Amino acid sequence: MENGGLSVVAVRKMKLTPKAIIVQKFGRNAQFTVDEVQDVVQNGCPGLAIPQKGPCLYRCSLQLPEFSVVSETFKKKKDAEQSAAEKALEKLGIDPSPNVPSAEEAWDKLIASVKHLFSNEFLSSQSPLRGHFIAALRRDGDLYGSVPASVIAVCDSKLANLCKLINPKVESSHLLVLTYIMRAATRLSEFVVTSEGQLSIWRKDPYPPEIKESSIIQQSESPDSICIEAIHIPSSLEMAVHPVTLNVSSTGYYLDVIARNLDQTDGNKILVSSRTIGKASSEMRLYFAAPKSYLLDLSSDLPNVEEVVDFEGSLNPRASYLYGQDIYGDAILASIGYTRKSEGLFHEDITLQSYYRMLIHLTPSGVYKLSREAILTAELPMAFTTRTNWRGSFPREMLFMFCRQHWLSEPVFSTCSNSLKESSESSRFYEKSAALESAETGKECTSGGGTAASDNVRCEVKIFSKSRDPILECSPKEFYKKQNESIENASLKVLSWLNAYFKDPDIPLEKLNNLVGALDIQCYPQNFFKKFSSYRFIHNVQQRKMGEKLLQANSINTLNAIPEHGIYCLSIGGPDSGIYPSNGCLSFISYSVSLVIEGETMKELLESREEFEFEMGTGAVIPQVEVVTAQMSVGQSACFCKELPPQELILAAADDSARTFSLLSSRACCLEYHITLLRVTEPPEDRMEQALFSPPLSKQRVEYALQHIKESCATTLVDFGCGSGSLLDSLLDYPTALEKIVGVDISQKSLSRAAKIIHSKLSKKLDAAVPCTDVKSAVLFDGSITVFDSRLHGFDIGTCLEVIEHMEEDEASQFGNIVLSSFRPRILIVSTPNYEYNAILQKSSSTIQEDDPDEKTQLQSCKFRNHDHKFEWTRDQFNCWATELAARHNYSVEFSGVGGSGDREPGFASQIAVFRSRTPPEEDDLLKDGDSAHHYKVIWEWDGNGLSRSSL
Ligand code: SAH
Ligand code: MG
Repeated sequence: MENGGLSVVAVRKMKLTPKAIIVQKFGRNAQFTVDEVQDVVQNGCPGLAIPQKGPCLYRCSLQLPEFSVVSETFKKKKDAEQSAAEKALEKLGIDPSPNVPSAEEAWDKLIASVKHLFSNEFLSSQSPLRGHFIAALRRDGDLYGSVPASVIAVCDSKLANLCKLINPKVESSHLLVLTYIMRAATRLSEFVVTSEGQLSIWRKDPYPPEIKESSIIQQSESPDSICIEAIHIPSSLEMAVHPVTLNVSSTGYYLDVIARNLDQTDGNKILVSSRTIGKASSEMRLYFAAPKSYLLDLSSDLPNVEEVVDFEGSLNPRASYLYGQDIYGDAILASIGYTRKSEGLFHEDITLQSYYRMLIHLTPSGVYKLSREAILTAELPMAFTTRTNWRGSFPREMLFMFCRQHWLSEPVFSTCSNSLKESSESSRFYEKSAALESAETGKECTSGGGTAASDNVRCEVKIFSKSRDPILECSPKEFYKKQNESIENASLKVLSWLNAYFKDPDIPLEKLNNLVGALDIQCYPQNFFKKFSSYRFIHNVQQRKMGEKLLQANSINTLNAIPEHGIYCLSIGGPDSGIYPSNGCLSFISYSVSLVIEGETMKELLESREEFEFEMGTGAVIPQVEVVTAQMSVGQSACFCKELPPQELILAAADDSARTFSLLSSRACCLEYHITLLRVTEPPEDRMEQALFSPPLSKQRVEYALQHIKESCATTLVDFGCGSGSLLDSLLDYPTALEKIVGVDISQKSLSRAAKIIHSKLSKKLDAAVPCTDVKSAVLFDGSITVFDSRLHGFDIGTCLEVIEHMEEDEASQFGNIVLSSFRPRILIVSTPNYEYNAILQKSSSTIQEDDPDEKTQLQSCKFRNHDHKFEWTRDQFNCWATELAARHNYSVEFSGVGGSGDREPGFASQIAVFRSRTPPEEDDLLKDGDSAHHYKVIWEWDGNGLSRSSL
């Protein structure tokens, strides 16, 4: 890899995907049909009495004229398509890795291809170039019939690919393609005419009249003339980017019109960006003047041709940045051209807003903002916490896009899994295979041979230029459970680092490295700055020039301000509902952002969303929105002002960019945000606990319960409020005397999950040679633990972990009474959060630290660990509840806990009470006969022979 060489790059580029080969061969005769497949059997759980929806999988059938094939099922549509195409290729006996022609062969092919363009047949071909050839026949005077070499280079990707084979440098210097095409034309002097120093080609003999006429008639169905909006990008940064109207008459050639707008005589003097700007499917390209003299270097041998150009005008930083290659002089950004699909001239207006959107789309944070449609609110998050909490484009996807847009090679990921064997095996892959690979490897990484999963995958990323110069390397130290996770996290690190640069391109490198902290990035400054330094000139130019024309401090109400966060005039209104968002939870807000203009009552609405959700504490929104949201409770609204962000963001958000632009440059402005907190979801509890405790608190609770199960030699266990069965599932991994395990919960969703997990664990144990559990029976009940069911009477041990706080306090007492009076387990273990510990949890996971020395207010500002908690008790509260309960029902009680320490303030993170029955077992049995109530519904049952069933 390190020494991959140039030819390798070219070869890899030429490699087509199986689908691309099929499409190339069969065109419309290849029909890909993708169907959704619900995989019930595989992922379901036999006997589960709750209707299940499997995950959505896709299968592709490919119909070819001669036969059809069907793929396996995949998580992604495109994988299914590729798999079907692969099968078809196999049937057809086609090797998907074609022979790559040598440079000499490519040169011969290039000459032949250019010759073909000027043949009679070409005028009736499907190529987008055909439109240019016909338009050339309508040009006037000297220009009659002349075709600019630049459009040949741009519209025929086959030609460009051949040039890349001749000389890989073509990839990074677009003018070289022109050199090769012009050079090929000089070899065809019997067919075409070129003239010294010109970048256009004529056909030598006129077309036969019938061919000419039929082609021209076909194309002239177009309307009289068209006007399209394009964008003029002056090379001087002193001048603003502005819209221009291109007026193309029905008989004119659009390139000539663009030329006149760039002060050139005709379209032959115009170069076209070889790549479309923005979306891949767009026709948006940059047009700019060709160098005055373009010296054709005909003497050197093929691969050694160098560009010899003499550009007039100065570098155009904005256009160069958009394009990713140097552009000199003024440029026009227009969406116009002949396409394969449309007969006539395709054209679309481009607004200033879309120009600014393209500009910010080139930065990682811009991509994220646009993918969330929240330019003035969203930010690239600092952390990839969970896939479910991440909104917007995924980091890996964004990194690929970033590299593509900036003409870099695809990022190279290498993951290494550090399994128990201590040997590290490394797999390297590129994008195409990565999609397929991750679908398979994602799962196998988590199961370390039946033992408990541990974090064991690490991922490195390397970014290279097109010519394989290293630009950045990121080698995170962290290990992850899944390969995907490690890739996303490494990608995010790279993006965060890049983002820090794009936020402040003047920043010295050492500072950049300090600023973003532990991103584990190694940068190759020379290569990096060669690539990106031009951005310095573009970023926020206008604002800097305006000389910080911000609202004066005296016109901003600084009373309700948090100046260090840039928040002014803050007001929060509405009744306090007591539900606050905390770090890790998702906050749902509605918001609007307006431009407030000094001295005017009217505001200009820039951006608004009815509902927008983000994870608290990860920097997924601008700091001001996060700080203010953290102070709001559900149902409240807030309004505040902040200083202007970089101008390109405002203009990308504004519908009427031209008007906004004039406001911004003439008046002092600020932004006003209106936010309403609609709701919050998702417990931060698990992640907070996971981050802080090792092993995680949930695991410590399981181990605590296990200890008592072993000591008591319990054979029957009931887990009250079993949730997704984490306790029951874990218990099956240890040797105990347990024979029967039962779970009760009121959440069907959780119970379904529990059933699947326990089912698969028990099935595996059944198959294993040495079963480590004696559990013969497992049952899951749907029911409330505040109601008695006689089937659960008199178990050896009952557990109720982190459940009572999910009920109202009176229900918790009701449960306490019923469990000790009616269910009467010999031992009962109850755990619940210790409220006093929250200060520690929240301090550690909080980004906004209030320096409040007053302990009491600090305690008050602490929220519950989980939005669903109805209460959280202090140690005193819990002791009172449990002691009284135990006394009432003839149980003893002991207090303990997990996480932290019982001897130190503020006690354990999770407090635990262990109740033991003082009633002798014989007496207890007498009590049983009285009541035989079946209030619970069996959701799922396992009978020890591997048979599951449900009794409805
Ligand atoms: N004990 C599990 C789950 C804790 S979450 C664990 O430690 O992982 C709390 C669970 O209590 C939820 O699954 C919720 O559905 C359940 N729950 C809340 N009120 C309940 C009630 N009245 N009866 C039964 N389960 C209840
Ligand atoms: Mg809880």
